[in-house]
Formats: sequence, structure tokens, C-alpha cells
Amino acid sequence: MERIIVCIKGVPRPGTVKVDPETHTLKRESAELILNPPDRAALEMAMRLRERYGVEVVVMSMGPPNVAPLLKEAFALGADELILLSDRAFAGADTLATSRVLAQAIRGLTPFSLVIMGLKSVDGETAQVPPETAAILNLPSVINVIDISYSNNRFYLTRETNYGEEELEVEPPLIISMNPKLEYFRPPSLKRLLQARDLSFKSMTAQDLNLAEDLLGLKGSPTQVAGVFEKVFSQRGEVWKGEPEELADKLINLLREKGLLQKLALINR
Ligand SMILES: Cc1cc2nc3c(=O)[nH]c(=O)nc-3n(C[C@H](O)[C@H](O)[C@H](O)COP(=O)(O)OP(=O)(O)OC[C@H]3O[C@@H](n4cnc5c(N)ncnc54)[C@H](O)[C@@H]3O)c2cc1C
Repeated sequence: MERIIVCIKGVPRPGTVKVDPETHTLKRESAELILNPPDRAALEMAMRLRERYGVEVVVMSMGPPNVAPLLKEAFALGADELILLSDRAFAGADTLATSRVLAQAIRGLTPFSLVIMGLKSVDGETAQVPPETAAILNLPSVINVIDISYSNNRFYLTRETNYGEEELEVEPPLIISMNPKLEYFRPPSLKRLLQARDLSFKSMTAQDLNLAEDLLGLKGSPTQVAGVFEKVFSQRGEVWKGEPEELADKLINLLREKGLLQKLALINR
């Protein structure tokens, strides 16, 4: 088996999200970034395959420089190589512009057998990047994987669908997204955590990736966010106290007032 590549995303820690009033995109460079929780399963599965098949694991992330601590977390879990894909030209990227950058960086790591991503991010939540990156690289993709094994140059995958589990046999290389539910996540090694403090690692720009700027970031994104607004809940619930009969009467009167009782009667007919 050739090397395994894992793509991890930094997402703003809940409560630290700020939106750029002009571009309506998230201000990631000023937010406190945490590892996208579903990517923890991608890292865990990569480390299991590393142990089982003795394969090299490369972890990459596209984002602002404050993604670096997340790559160091991956090192503490056992990653062999770390790559930060960072350039102001990447800012405001939609899923297509993000997938272009990841695809180009992955291409540069050939030969590889497997790319593992999380099922979806907790901020954009599109789940589009894994299959989109695979399409750009003309590779097969399998989403929502729960288990993997490998023999005779074949991957045997189990994935979760709406109709139960599905077994697949796929020839490498391929891209998968991991179901976030794994029964065990290894803790980071203390020794590697200490080593990670002074760790320097590769950082690649648009120029290093030989990507034209008009394909990247906000400029290269067919999806433009028209507006972002904070949902303000105007109506608050009311708490009624009293005897059940009295409260039942009060509720029926309120439903009658709002003309909802007729509607209920029609539905129950
Ligand atoms: C609220 C919100 C709504 C959005 N809606 C859209 C939309 O409708 N359409 C659109 O095109 N864009 C949208 N975006 C932008 C989108 O979030 C970014 O393009 C993002 O970089 C990739 O999409 P995603 O977060 O949905 O990733 P997903 O496809 O959900 O992520 C799946 C996996 O891909 C990998 N991955 C994703 N991003 C990176 C990265 N930067 N570095 C390394 N690996 C990565 C990770 O393994 C991750 O688990 C939205 C962003 C926000 C905050």
C-alpha cells in the first residue's frame, strides 16, 4: 500500500465566529480554530491503517496560519508528515475552490493509495469536498465509511447508507469520507505533543501549487454567499401554571382564538 493522505479542516470554536460584513464569509484568521470534530475519525482510521500495514500518513489542511496547531495535534496522534496549504488567495473559497486546492496538493503526493476526509464540516456542513476532490482527480469516492481493510491491492469498505450497511471492494487509489462514529479514539502521545511544540512543517502557497488565482478563493467560487444573518428568535414561549382542566380550557380557547381548532378538526376527519 502506498501512502495515506488525511485532509483536516479548522473550524471556528463555537462562540468565536465572526462574519466579514463585506464578503459574508467567516473571518477564520481571527477566530479560534478547533479541529473539525468529524476529522478526528479520519485521523483515527489513518493511524489504525498505519499500524496494521506500516504505511506513511501525510496530513494536510487548507486554511489561515492559525490552523498550524491542528496539524501539530495530528502529529501527536502519529502523522508522519504535515502540510499547511495557506495563501490569502484561498480566502472565502466555496467547496469547488477548496477542492481544487486539495486536489492539486494530493496530486503532488503521488503515489498514494487512499485519501481520508471527514464526512462533513460542522460549519459549512456541505459534505461536498470529498466527492468533489475525487471528481477533479478522476478517482472513485466512497462516503460515510465505517470500516476498511486491505489485501491484494484491494480496499474492502463498509459504509453506512439510509438503508443499512453496504460492502464495497475498490482498487486504489480512492478518496473516502469517514462516518464520525468510531468506538475508540486514541489519545495524543505525550512524547509527540512535546516534540510538536518546536516542529516546523511544509507550507504551500498558490504559487507552490501552480494554481491560477482566478480559480481560487472568493474569485474562483461559483457559490457566493449573498448574505449571512444571525437568527434572532423574536417569539418566546409562555409558561402556564394551574389545574389541568383549567389549563386545558385555556389552551382550547387560545387555539379557537387563533382559528387552529377548525383546522385540527378537519385534519382528524
Ligand atoms: C455557514 C456556511 C455555509 C456554507 N455554504 C456553502 C455552500 O452552500 N456551498 C459552498 O460551495 N460552500 C459553502 N460554504 C463554504 C464552505 O464551507 C467552504 O468552501 C469549505 O472550505 C468547504 O466546505 P465544507 O465546509 O462544507 O466542507 P465539507 O465538504 O462538509 O467537508 C468534508 C471534509 O472535507 C475536508 N475539508 C473541507 N474543507 C477543508 C479544508 N479547508 N482543508 C482540508 N480539508 C478540508 C475535511 O476532511 C472535511 O471533514 C459555507 C460556509 C459556511 C460557514
